[in-house]
Amino acid sequence: MIDENTPEPGDLAASFARLIASTGPMSIAQFMGEANAHYYASRDPLGADGDFITAPEISQMFGEMVGLWCAHLALEARIARFHYVELGPGRGTLARDALAAMARFGLKPDVHLIEGSPALQAVQRGLGLEARWHDSIETVPNDAPMIVIANEFFDALPVRQLVKTGGHWAERGVDFQNDIFVPVATPRLMDAAIPAPIRAQADQAEDGAILELHPAAAAIGYEIAHRISQQGGAALFIDYGYADLALGSSLQAVKKHFRVDPFIAPGTADLTAHVDFGELARIAASHGLTAQGPANQGDWLMALGLAVRAERLIAANPDHADSVTAALHRLTDSSEMGELFKVLALRHPNWPESAGF
Ligand code: SAH
Repeated sequence: MIDENTPEPGDLAASFARLIASTGPMSIAQFMGEANAHYYASRDPLGADGDFITAPEISQMFGEMVGLWCAHLALEARIARFHYVELGPGRGTLARDALAAMARFGLKPDVHLIEGSPALQAVQRGLGLEARWHDSIETVPNDAPMIVIANEFFDALPVRQLVKTGGHWAERGVDFQNDIFVPVATPRLMDAAIPAPIRAQADQAEDGAILELHPAAAAIGYEIAHRISQQGGAALFIDYGYADLALGSSLQAVKKHFRVDPFIAPGTADLTAHVDFGELARIAASHGLTAQGPANQGDWLMALGLAVRAERLIAANPDHADSVTAALHRLTDSSEMGELFKVLALRHPNWPESAGF
């Protein structure tokens, strides 16, 4: 899968080191953004043989529940046609399973996959789905309502970090010292970058506290909210994150299913950070949209009928009872993905409530 034009990971570390040597520490956002762009461009990181596994890769039931959610909403909204838009579709598994579930209700939306990674886009094209690919939501047509789905997409977008230093918020950056990348407080003071809704809390934070801002997620959130407010529709965001501000760095790296130091070998591990669902809901509200959640993934899946679906799958294929039961546990249990992952739904104010909340 590695394109011969893609530089080796060592090259990325070397170019980061050169950049830092000439212009000083790079921001966390730039480090994370470029490391992930490199990481995703060159490989399919998903699955048991890869670096990490996601809910749709655990079981077809996950995509089926997302498809059921879409079908319920489209039927309640009584729309003749709509665009199914998925951000960061990975291997395309969620889209495939969700579209199959919708087809059982006679629904056949136009499919738009937003994928920045050439390697993953190739995997998605291999599924034989009737779909169009885009670099951003901007080129998705505006002639019908859109239902936008994003699972583990926002957590891969670069976060900016500020660190409280001498009573002020400074840009947190990455320096290169003694041949290793290390996080540092840069001299760039950024008090003005603290958003109004969290200013009071930020003022009370002690020196050394870290605050994460999500400019990339917010920009995409604004675009989706704008489009839905104009052409109708809804969105479903599933990710790990929080509704209320939590201080601290949530930046983490995963490689071969283990957590590794995010500052070692940039571009060779998946970097993620917690999603600020409160901010995404506020952005939606500023465009007149209505939010539901964030709910816990486990509760949401159960409310949509995951347990019933599991029983049916087991009845139809008793040999698979153990694996279906294990998947059910993994997706819903509080010790697994059930509480860590949250579900946020947004909708045009004229659209009906969506299921599962
Ligand atoms: N939704 C899939 C894959 C999650 S991995 C699943 O649940 O299995 C993250 C996905 O987001 C990948 O498809 C990755 O290529 C894509 N992605 C990450 N950063 C992106 C960016 N800046 N622009 C577009 N896609 C991005």
